[in-house]
Amino acid sequence: MLYQSTRGYGERATADEAILRGLAPDGGLYVPAEMAALPAWSELTGCNYQELSLKIIKPFLASFSDRELLESVCAAYNRSSFDHEATTPLRRLTGDLWYLELWHGPTAAFKDIALQLLPRLMRQAMIRNGEEKEIVILTATSGDTGKSALEGFRDIPGIRIIVYYPEKGVSKIQKLQMITQEGANVAVAAVKGNFDDAQNGVKSLFTDFDLVQILARAGKKLSSANSINWGRLLPQIVYYFSAYLELIGKKAIHPGDKINFVVPTGNFGNILAGFYAMQLGLPVKRLICAANRNNVLSDFIASGRYNCRRQLYQTLSPSMDILVSSNLERLLFELSDHDPQSVAAWMQQLKARGEYNVTASVHRQIGTLFWSDYADDRETLSAIADIYSKFNYLIDTHTAVAQSVLDKYRVQEKDLTPAVILSTASPFKFAGSVSKALWGSDAGQNIEELQLLEKLSRETGARIPSGLVDLDQKLVKHKQVIAREAMRDHLLEILGIRN
Ligand SMILES: *Cc1c(COP(=O)(O)O)cnc(C)c1O
Repeated sequence: MLYQSTRGYGERATADEAILRGLAPDGGLYVPAEMAALPAWSELTGCNYQELSLKIIKPFLASFSDRELLESVCAAYNRSSFDHEATTPLRRLTGDLWYLELWHGPTAAFKDIALQLLPRLMRQAMIRNGEEKEIVILTATSGDTGKSALEGFRDIPGIRIIVYYPEKGVSKIQKLQMITQEGANVAVAAVKGNFDDAQNGVKSLFTDFDLVQILARAGKKLSSANSINWGRLLPQIVYYFSAYLELIGKKAIHPGDKINFVVPTGNFGNILAGFYAMQLGLPVKRLICAANRNNVLSDFIASGRYNCRRQLYQTLSPSMDILVSSNLERLLFELSDHDPQSVAAWMQQLKARGEYNVTASVHRQIGTLFWSDYADDRETLSAIADIYSKFNYLIDTHTAVAQSVLDKYRVQEKDLTPAVILSTASPFKFAGSVSKALWGSDAGQNIEELQLLEKLSRETGARIPSGLVDLDQKLVKHKQVIAREAMRDHLLEILGIRN
């Protein structure tokens, strides 16, 4: 099984190369050159999460041995990293409304599912390819990714990880999660400014040719762990299958019945994994793409025109505050019959003019597979309050966007097909907004966010995820605050290289 770039006819890459490089040399994203075939359904039934992962990722990872994959999967998904036996448990609210809880990992957000596995696959690929250099992962984060990457890469031999977060752009909880990070190979620094400053700072490190040379001489090379890496997408296909199989097991559906998935979407990674699950034969009627007020995607799905020339709003669902959804490029490649020329042209137009139009054929296919709408902050809060009052069930702001969009879908399309909402973060991770939804806007005022966690737990009976307990008691290990211009020196210093 080989990979090709969405933008080039060029050489095929092995799974190892796709995972180690992240981005293809021509700037495109790696996609499977042909679709893998899964084992028969009968072999997928009755598996636990680890076995199911193994069976689904294996056909995509030809360079890995069964033993390697088993080792990685077991190290990624177990009771010390996930606080639920099922890894991604499915909760029934009503017969046609289910929540797939993807936040039982170490950092209480769904990115853990991919980032617990990817570093282990990377390590195995490094060994097999005789990689002698130390890999240095650089990540700029607006919140959830940074902590998840730190937990995933901590203490993986041969790899270092450095995370930069905007000094004034992450929540108190997110900041505490990062500055108390343990592990011998990790570093965290605050960058003065906002997320763009941190992200642009990291980008300029990657493109600093002189720096790359210095690092190479010191036996190191830079890499990234963002969601364009195929190794991050692949593990996410698994839970679409696990949800479906569980619905069969619970006799909520018959084998072959189609269901809907509702996905709170930012970079289009999570929902794209659902698309690949469909390509692999999962019976899905619609993938419902839920956006927040930054509704570039719902506009695109309605019109076939992607236009990111607009203001970026800060919303209560910050992990979805994105104008350019990188993973969409993979969908366009798949739906244009693997036509890299069209994809490259659209991406070029996006860069030059901030917009592009897909062909009528691509737009039509998108319309049959996907449905999309958005929810603003007010609707988000009211979905949290509504689900809590009806079902005594707490959801976070991102998940609430999905609930709100599902409500709109059901009214407009009159389709009551059983729906699975992908629940992407623990409500405790966004305790401030959740409290506001339940008790009104004054409820959280003058209360520290950490005390709010306890209040939420006390009043609702829900349990605080272990990764968020006693955060303020933990030792602060990473205190550095640096200017964007100082990132290069800081990096060299951390790596012990004299400039
Ligand atoms: C990252 C994230 C999302 C968006 O997922 P994409 O794969 O970027 O579309 C949604 N919710 C939460 C809580 C996240 O951390």
